[in-house]
Amino acid sequence: MKKIVAVSTLALLLAGCNPGDQEAEKDTKTEEQANQNADEKVAQDNEKSDAEVAKEKEAAEAKKEAEAQAEAEKKAEEQAAADKKAAEEKAAEEKAAEEKAAEDKADESTTEDKTDETAEEKKDDGKTDSAQDPEPSKPSKPESETPDVDKSDTKADLSLGELVVVNKKYSLPIDYKPSDLVVPDVSFSYSGVLEQSYMRAPAAKQMEKMFADAKAANITLNAVSGFRSGARQTVLYNNYVARDGKEAADQYSARPGHSEHQTGLVFDISAPSVGNGLTAALGDTKEGKWIANNAAKYGFIVRYDRGFQSRTGYTYEPWHIRYVGVGPATQIKNNGQTLEEYMKVGH
Ligand SMILES: [Zn+2]
Repeated sequence: MKKIVAVSTLALLLAGCNPGDQEAEKDTKTEEQANQNADEKVAQDNEKSDAEVAKEKEAAEAKKEAEAQAEAEKKAEEQAAADKKAAEEKAAEEKAAEEKAAEDKADESTTEDKTDETAEEKKDDGKTDSAQDPEPSKPSKPESETPDVDKSDTKADLSLGELVVVNKKYSLPIDYKPSDLVVPDVSFSYSGVLEQSYMRAPAAKQMEKMFADAKAANITLNAVSGFRSGARQTVLYNNYVARDGKEAADQYSARPGHSEHQTGLVFDISAPSVGNGLTAALGDTKEGKWIANNAAKYGFIVRYDRGFQSRTGYTYEPWHIRYVGVGPATQIKNNGQTLEEYMKVGH
């Protein structure tokens, strides 16, 4: 009978189990099982006679009961584990949402000028800086290597350095940020330093030369917008989609990760003659013409030149210059190529 009492106690203890008390429950169970085992041993040692059959029957029943109880306990533990996991996942989701909200808030508060810039770009017949803002970009590997399963999410090949291709097909990781960003020593269209004031050091150095030479030629240029983080692009793009719808937004804004500005190799530049606007009209000014004729000497290309729309996916952007190095820039300009054509990748 002792055995049955022990098992019943175990059953009662287990029945009262709280999923949150798994450890305590286990301990209790282990203890009870130890007691039970001890009881069984005593029974085996001392009782051999007439009650043996009855005992064996009791033992079988007790064992059965214990097994059922163990099964119930196991289920309870599994449920508890599932509940715990669900709670953890929910907490993680909430935390991620909070962090994103905080980031977006911080982003907006520090980049008011960018919004203006983007608005300006958009005014330009929705042709803004599409190269950088609109769609995903491609890696610079042969297209044959990457099945066309998801054009919008092919990874850009950062190992190409200043020749990395980021466009509607090839994208950068959202958190990618160059480690050598600096603020070029040139004139800007605004005062103060913002995220968009930065550019990768090698490109910045060349832009300084370019601006200095332009000034010497009585050409006044102003830097407007350089580096743009994936987080910032996400905010901009989402705002556009909310305002104009996805289809329209894709015509003038790059999707997150697909803005060439995130490479840190790009600067939107303009001139006082067009109010420092990012507008196609810049292309017809003496400043715009100077840029088109001279940028390659400093390693820059007008990334979305006239007539390039079907070859880049972006409309004419005389203000968006991309650093690729003097050699490639010269070759690209002389051949009338797009960066995609030069790199032999899609767009
Ligand atoms: Zn741009």
